[in-house]
Amino acid sequence: MPELPEVETTRRGLAPWLEGQRIAQIVVRVPRLRWPVPPEFAGLLPGARVTALERRAKWLLLRTDRGTALLHLGMTGSFRVLREHRPPAVHDHLDIVTGDGVTVRFNDPRRFGSVLWTADDPALHPLIAPLGPEPLGDDFTVEYLRGRSRKRSVAIKPHIMNAQIVVGVGNIYASEALFRARIHPARAAGRVALPRLEALVAAIREVLAESIRDGGTTLRDFYNGEGQPGYFSRRLRVYDRAGSPCVECGAPVRQMVLGQRSSYYCPRCQR
Ligand SMILES: [Zn+2]
Repeated sequence: MPELPEVETTRRGLAPWLEGQRIAQIVVRVPRLRWPVPPEFAGLLPGARVTALERRAKWLLLRTDRGTALLHLGMTGSFRVLREHRPPAVHDHLDIVTGDGVTVRFNDPRRFGSVLWTADDPALHPLIAPLGPEPLGDDFTVEYLRGRSRKRSVAIKPHIMNAQIVVGVGNIYASEALFRARIHPARAAGRVALPRLEALVAAIREVLAESIRDGGTTLRDFYNGEGQPGYFSRRLRVYDRAGSPCVECGAPVRQMVLGQRSSYYCPRCQR
């Protein structure tokens, strides 16, 4: 499932082909993904000029002078850039064709991806307005996290995976960040000491930034039509390593279930 780093990598891969372009044509081959594709998408985009391709949480915001398309990759969605005409393959549900003749093609075998439309400020959209701050943005600080964690008895791991607290911290990134910050995943959020919270904010930023950096090396895949992510896997220190020795102390990594998600941690390094 595409996580925040894959979505950011997608944004960086697509932006140079879309920003500043006038859209020539929209092709909708499948009218319903997770929700019906809104009529404005095919009706308003042809002729519109793309002012920016932004990201908020795992949404891509295709901003134009006529409104904003909100695009979500869902479970299996991916985009690629085609510089010459190629017939659509199975699961190629949508095309955005620019004035330069470039096709940005959306493929999604499981159809959990989404296309929505808003004429207003996308920050006010009901799916975006309730979201917590961006983990790599200036609003995600230790003061902020401390305020949101005070007196909370929820375990710290599901706490940081809650998109209303902070967006984009998926299961792998939560496990890895807690290991780097030396915090036990089941510790109550309100009982994490300030220096540990400080380390956690830094670690969340670090693991996501590293993953985005790794993704940069896969950008060329957008042009050759592969684009499959998962590039963070070689950096994993605890995730999916139950029974293997901790890279710091050698104790066997343990696994537990928290909030219905598998969590991995070192019982010696993380308290
Ligand atoms: Zn350890």
